[in-house]
Amino acid sequence: KLPKDCPADSETLGRHTWTFLHTMAAYYSDTPTTTQQTMMLSFLRTFSYVYPCWYCAEHLRDEMLRKPPRVENRNVLSRWMCEMHNGVNQRLGKKIFDCSKVDERWRDGPKDGRCD
Ligand code: FAD
Repeated sequence: KLPKDCPADSETLGRHTWTFLHTMAAYYSDTPTTTQQTMMLSFLRTFSYVYPCWYCAEHLRDEMLRKPPRVENRNVLSRWMCEMHNGVNQRLGKKIFDCSKVDERWRDGPKDGRCD
């Protein structure tokens, strides 16, 4: 692991970016307005062009063509993000995450209260 004051490598960048993306989805509205949905779609499309790991961004754009973002509400966006992340996990040979636990991981915390 690199010291904290080094520029991010693609692993560190990925870890922090997933934190941002899943947290953004976890706090998206349950009833977004049309404008909020349009802004989220526009953000995700732009993100897939500017993410500063070019091969990651290219894969993401391919995946987004196959599986367009779902922005109708918090639940479907969180699930979609989880599935995108699992696509990368699968490609990298990492463990597949159980998407039914996405709120527990990124919004509510575990039931035993250790994160409260
Ligand atoms: P990460 O995969 O970063 O996950 C962080 C935490 O998220 C985990 O500890 C777990 O608690 C949770 N988590 C895991 N899976 C899910 C899920 N499905 N849903 C919700 N939470 C979950 N790296 C490459 O080498 N090649 C690529 O093509 C590539 N593409 C990427 C595309 C994007 C959009 C991003 C953001 C990152 C990409 N990365 C890519 C980086 C890669 O996904 C990892 O972030 C990096 O390898 C570090 O992995 P990690 O084991 O620390 O955990």
